[in-house]
Amino acid sequence: MSEKAIMTFHEKFKQYDLGKDHPFKGDRFENAMRFFESQGLLSLPELMIVKPEPASKEDLLRVHDREYVHLIFRLAKENRPYDFETPVSQEILEAALLVVGGAIECGEGVFEGKAKRAVSIGGGYHHAGRNYGGGFCLFNDVAILIEFLRANCGVKRFLVLDYDVHFGNGTSDIYYRDPSVLYISLHQDPRTIYPGTGFVWQTGESDGEGYNVNVPLPPRTGDATYLHALNEVFVPMAEEFKPDIIIANGGSDSHFADMLGNLGLTVNGFFELSQLIRKTAERVCEGRIV
Ligand SMILES: [Zn+2]
Repeated sequence: MSEKAIMTFHEKFKQYDLGKDHPFKGDRFENAMRFFESQGLLSLPELMIVKPEPASKEDLLRVHDREYVHLIFRLAKENRPYDFETPVSQEILEAALLVVGGAIECGEGVFEGKAKRAVSIGGGYHHAGRNYGGGFCLFNDVAILIEFLRANCGVKRFLVLDYDVHFGNGTSDIYYRDPSVLYISLHQDPRTIYPGTGFVWQTGESDGEGYNVNVPLPPRTGDATYLHALNEVFVPMAEEFKPDIIIANGGSDSHFADMLGNLGLTVNGFFELSQLIRKTAERVCEGRIV
């Protein structure tokens, strides 16, 4: 398999701007790209930057209910918010579809052998469930990617490692009864942060029992404890589960300077975390990561 990596980016991602006084601003994507550029990452010969196509309704409907998809399209047309912190407009919808399209492009590229790893810039809308959105999220790009790969690339086993500071209630809900998706989430103690769920005892149901793994961590956890938890939980479970791919739902909000959370990770912590994911993927799924 090629050592190449894909990164998806579209200048219209910046339309995912939830407002002047909202913590989720559209400039984050370009800021990230500018930073990568300044570090010389964008000119690495192994990196392919791909401009994604928007996800289709068919892609969305593999995960989301038809009524919900229609609701979001209607809200966009009418320029009305989904809830008090999740505005919707034509611009936001267009950007959301491009981000989801980017996730699909990443997964497809990895399974077509174009690259071993792929980064979907702007992805990780893990608060969106089958028939609900919220927490700045409209469509669950992680689940849509999983269902795309299942339908088109014959992929069977998925490990989602969610290291956003918040619990990914949407992703967890979607796969709560599904043993083909092992969902592991490290997040800040839900008693102290949105969405208020993601407890240890929420382990999955029926066939999915045991395939939902929540690791709530106290505020000010810091790098050492965080990495310890990853080593103790994620690594052995990945080895036992043997996924075809690891999908890492990142979130910069675990960083100490982020206003939304208090886990207190540093850039070094994120680096160690990504190395650990990469090394684990090398051992369990031929290095395939999105
Ligand atoms: Zn978050």
